[in-house]
Amino acid sequence: MNLQNSQATAAQAHWETLAQAAVAPFADQIDQDARVPAQVISALRQAGAFASGFAGGFTGEFASAPSGDPLADPSDARTAALDHGHMHQALGAASASVQGVLNVHHMGGSALAKWSSKAQKSHWMPKLLSGEICCAIAMTEPEVGSDISAVQTQAQPVTGGYELSGHKAWITCGDFADLFVVIARTEAGPTAFLLPRETQGLRIDPIEGMLGCRGYMMANLHLEAAFLPEDHLLGRPGFGASHVAVTGLEAGRLNLAWGCVGLAEAACQLALRRAKTRQQFGTAIGDFQLVQQLLARMATDIHAARLMCQSASSARALRQMDAAKQATMAKYFASQMVGRVTRDAQQIFGAEGIGANTPLALYHRDSRIMEVIEGTTQVLESLIARLALSEVSIS
Ligand SMILES: Cc1cc2nc3c(=O)[nH]c(=O)nc-3n(C[C@H](O)[C@H](O)[C@H](O)COP(=O)(O)OP(=O)(O)OC[C@H]3O[C@@H](n4cnc5c(N)ncnc54)[C@H](O)[C@@H]3O)c2cc1C
Repeated sequence: MNLQNSQATAAQAHWETLAQAAVAPFADQIDQDARVPAQVISALRQAGAFASGFAGGFTGEFASAPSGDPLADPSDARTAALDHGHMHQALGAASASVQGVLNVHHMGGSALAKWSSKAQKSHWMPKLLSGEICCAIAMTEPEVGSDISAVQTQAQPVTGGYELSGHKAWITCGDFADLFVVIARTEAGPTAFLLPRETQGLRIDPIEGMLGCRGYMMANLHLEAAFLPEDHLLGRPGFGASHVAVTGLEAGRLNLAWGCVGLAEAACQLALRRAKTRQQFGTAIGDFQLVQQLLARMATDIHAARLMCQSASSARALRQMDAAKQATMAKYFASQMVGRVTRDAQQIFGAEGIGANTPLALYHRDSRIMEVIEGTTQVLESLIARLALSEVSIS
């Protein structure tokens, strides 16, 4: 399936082929088993998906970024950022769950790449980029959601490091990741740590029965005096929410927006085919102007979201001042857009759109997740408005 009407780059074709051949055939199984099968993970690993978005793009040449910044080479940064977006778009069309796994890996990895010491970088990044280990990010707690600056998980200084105690909730890949970027409170405030899965004192409880994105392999994490050595501190104490988590969220919002574009495109393709083939009142339903209205809205909505993603990816690559604002706007728009598009696609399918085991039912359930994660719609509205207000000076 050609995901865009514009010319596809080689990298775009690479991700599209991978997603359709190695991921899409497993979408139903992933939804039923609430797990991404090992063969899908293995195909993603071999294709370089775990390295995408870091320096060197999908070739995974992390060594070319001495500063550890994911986009350190400005000459090809824009192409790499767009290629990375196209990967999330292609995966979003194939399986929103798989897109989410790669998203949290990139969120945690981006935070690690930006805020880690040289020693931490050389220890962890090659493993992350090869896909030998999968990374995730644990901010949310039972009593702490949108306001991550209020984290209650405690990090107590002890000889040689810290002991972490508390609970993390709703963690994507909690039941799969090998390494968590976790935010816990020290005297200095919310602080980021690197929490390997095998840490003693970490208990992982898988979450079952999610509405959508069931292959996120969600879990709650329970920390009981879990000891982390000093060199597992990530960034400065007190920087956990304001810097480390924000780095992850900025990456994640844009990835998610691209994923929403892919998911919406897949739903729209089904609706277009149905509009051309389903006959009622002696003609194809696509001949009815009210069905055309639905299709026109869907196509325009998707196009707008895609342009926002392209612009935000360029801004991120070129380190424009408004890059974070653009990523936030793209996520804000695309996560609502995908809800409208999947609902309208279901409408075009009539009764067949409501059947429980149809692709559209899965798209619809998956799309419901997008307005909650990486900042809810309401929280992003506040953020965008505050950023816009800050740009105006009244003399
Ligand atoms: C599928 C899924 C995957 C997730 N993955 C992860 C993960 O990998 N890591 C992680 O740390 N967390 C993860 N989360 C948690 C997610 O980040 C939170 O659910 C999200 O931040 C919202 O927090 P909350 O659910 O506690 O809602 P709350 O913060 O309690 O918000 C409840 C309602 O109040 C509104 N609200 C809150 N604050 C404001 C405000 N200032 N202005 C206006 N309205 C407001 C919200 O918009 C929402 O409608 C995941 C959640 C889901 C569902």
